[in-house]
Amino acid sequence: MSAPPTNSIVLPFEDARRVVEEQARLVSASATESVDLLAAPGRVLAEPIVADRDLPPFDRSTRDGFAVRSADLAHLPVLLNVIGEIKAGEKLDRIPANIGSGQTASIMTGAPVPAGADAVVMVEYSSQRGEQVEILRSVASGENIVPRGAEAREGAALLARGFRLNEAAIALCASVGNSRLEVYKRPRVAVLTTGDEIVDVDARPGPTQIRNSNSFSLAAQILQAGGEPVLLTVAPDELQGLRHLIEEGLKSDLLLLTGGVSMGRYDLVEQALAQLHAEFFFTGAKIQPGRPVVFGKCPGAGAEGGKGTYFFGLPGNPISTMVTFELFARPMLEGLAGQSPRKQVFLHARLKREARFKTGLKRFLPGILSGEFENSEVELVAWQGSGDIAATARANCYVVIPPDRECIAAGEWVAVMLR
Ligand code: AMP
Ligand code: MG
Repeated sequence: MSAPPTNSIVLPFEDARRVVEEQARLVSASATESVDLLAAPGRVLAEPIVADRDLPPFDRSTRDGFAVRSADLAHLPVLLNVIGEIKAGEKLDRIPANIGSGQTASIMTGAPVPAGADAVVMVEYSSQRGEQVEILRSVASGENIVPRGAEAREGAALLARGFRLNEAAIALCASVGNSRLEVYKRPRVAVLTTGDEIVDVDARPGPTQIRNSNSFSLAAQILQAGGEPVLLTVAPDELQGLRHLIEEGLKSDLLLLTGGVSMGRYDLVEQALAQLHAEFFFTGAKIQPGRPVVFGKCPGAGAEGGKGTYFFGLPGNPISTMVTFELFARPMLEGLAGQSPRKQVFLHARLKREARFKTGLKRFLPGILSGEFENSEVELVAWQGSGDIAATARANCYVVIPPDRECIAAGEWVAVMLR
């Protein structure tokens, strides 16, 4: 076998992840487009969102009840004169100008609290007596009222550029009148599968051939992470053809290769990249599945020319491809999508059954997270290793096993990466 084309740089998982995060902080999205608010979930803001008026715009009652002067309720029960009724959206000229001592106005949730009143008593603690109401409980000053501007002042920045829009952010945009939003265009992510044995999904595979599944799992992950997948033709395990397709892929904002990064004689991806003057940040991570994962950058071939294009060589075993995308490619894609950087965090669940492991590598093993409410538990899926798509399709998470653990007892807390 020929000597490896590049010096090998194999990093512990956390170090490799931080290397990617460091590079991801150096990239940004520039092109933007305007989208309708309904099409904006999952998109990344390219403009700050600013409050167009105070939030709330008036002192807002949070209860149905009676607007009172809290000092009037020192001795209970107390009878107050009802001088008006204020519903949500009430016109200003129908709201009592002032609530004097001994007075009250009935008020609905979401209605403006009239001047003079400093609290709202819930209707449950009152009893109507004709023109009067008997109040049965006291309230502290300010109770059941959100003061004008307490949530945000007019002109305040509510969301920054780089925020990926979730439903609460969408609601916030709507509440300040933004029916269209300026968002970053999705980065184009080229997917280049390698391998002489790989055939197209519509082809009838020969007895030793297999269908290309990695391009499709990657496309799904790219879409989900905010990118636009660009599927290239499958590359042969032959240097020149491979290099041509890599050059094609480097025209996108990010290139993901799968397969051809292990130690086999026909694993030519690193060699082809080296011929294109790639810089390698790492050529392996101490993880399983996915140990041969490669991360680097090719100079001067970027979509806008000059800046260079980052690439990942993801191991070809289907689960290795999926896991290494999640661990390493995702933060780079998010950076290129304009998203502000974020650290990776894992959730925790109790392991259902004792399990044993080989030490030395951090493992990300397909698992099924179950339980109910606060009682989360997880079990490992029985699988045939990192090529077992059938077992992994049944899983809903990966269980994270530290490299030094030989045995984890039933009931122990383990980290879980959702998928
Ligand atoms: P490699 O990383 O090229 O050594 O491939 C490792 C294993 O993954 C081999 O069994 C390949 O046949 C399989 N594999 C590689 N690429 C794909 C793909 N695109 N779809 C499904 N399996 C693949
Ligand atoms: Mg291969």
